[in-house]
Amino acid sequence: MTDIITRAASAESVIHCGKGAFEAHAPKWKNKQIYIVTDSNVFAIYRHLLWGTFGNGFSLTVLPAGERSKNPKNLISILKDMLACGMKRGGVVIAFGGGVVGDIAGLAASLYMRGCRLVQIPTTLLSQVDSSVGGKTAVDLEGVKNVIGSFYQPEEVIVDPRFLQTLPEREIRCGLGEIIKYGALDKDIYNKIIKNCGNLKNENFLEEITADCIRHKARVVGEDERDENGVRKTLNLGHTTGHAFELFYGKKSHGEFVLIGMYYELYIARKYGICGGQYAENLEKLIKSVIKIPAYDDVEESAKFAAFDKKNDDAKITLIVPETEGKSAEIKLLPREYASLLAECRNKIKDGI
Ligand code: ADP
Ligand code: ZN
Repeated sequence: MTDIITRAASAESVIHCGKGAFEAHAPKWKNKQIYIVTDSNVFAIYRHLLWGTFGNGFSLTVLPAGERSKNPKNLISILKDMLACGMKRGGVVIAFGGGVVGDIAGLAASLYMRGCRLVQIPTTLLSQVDSSVGGKTAVDLEGVKNVIGSFYQPEEVIVDPRFLQTLPEREIRCGLGEIIKYGALDKDIYNKIIKNCGNLKNENFLEEITADCIRHKARVVGEDERDENGVRKTLNLGHTTGHAFELFYGKKSHGEFVLIGMYYELYIARKYGICGGQYAENLEKLIKSVIKIPAYDDVEESAKFAAFDKKNDDAKITLIVPETEGKSAEIKLLPREYASLLAECRNKIKDGI
């Protein structure tokens, strides 16, 4: 087990990572006033663990599993229930689940009586390596992702690989999407991924790489908590195109779209001479080893969704792309250029190149 500290401008968080982290750190909350937010799948598997760890004195919301639960109506109903349960400001909200649960429970904690205590216990690989760390919280509005949100650091994050044992294979792949993204930003992470590339789903590898990714993210959040000075923006590598496809095509989940987005953006980076040689080839191979890249017929249409990306600061589309090991670069493209490069990449995929 290791502890990692996020030193964000607004607050510090401690992240306990590794096998046994749940048993070692969750029970200390038992005698506090607890409000747990979880989802239907996670509750079905782990309700006995929750009762066994926290007794049966806690209050609880079980959301239907899935991104659609991240809505204002559920947010208000959590807040109303916290009030009805007599939660005090000193009480603790425990987010027990994947990114959906973490985002909405984090937002509820940040709003309730202007902010109560928050503990994140992420149970998916994706939320362990990414969304539970860094204090971003949100719900969607009118189908647009993360419109209502806040920056609110959890007091503690408990990252225990035990929860990955019940996670469907596909959700592991989603987590690998973000892990490979970290690989494109951090040389040590990249080298470890390459060394284990035939064995990325191995438990021990995942435990070690999860801590590495969290360490990377904690560093970035320490330098740029509110996404203001360009440092945190790097974590968005692959996401401009990933999000655009996600908005247009839906169906697949976030981590899979991140991989697909990285693949298309790597093509653009190569075309611009920003990324090349053996490194570009290895990265391409790595992405393809985790997911089959679709040759989307409507790339030009879906490219329009990149216009909503938060990184755009003028009429151009901003991409964060791999450059060399451990280094990313920024490319700004006119929407027209961007769409035609995506189409070019799509055609290459179609031709099997
Ligand atoms: P994210 O990938 O952002 O963490 P979700 O919160 O939607 O997204 O979680 C993905 C899916 O995995 C959901 O259906 C959720 O119920 C399920 N899930 C979360 N944790 C576990 C777990 N430990 N075991 C089995 N299923 C889980
Ligand atoms: Zn992401």
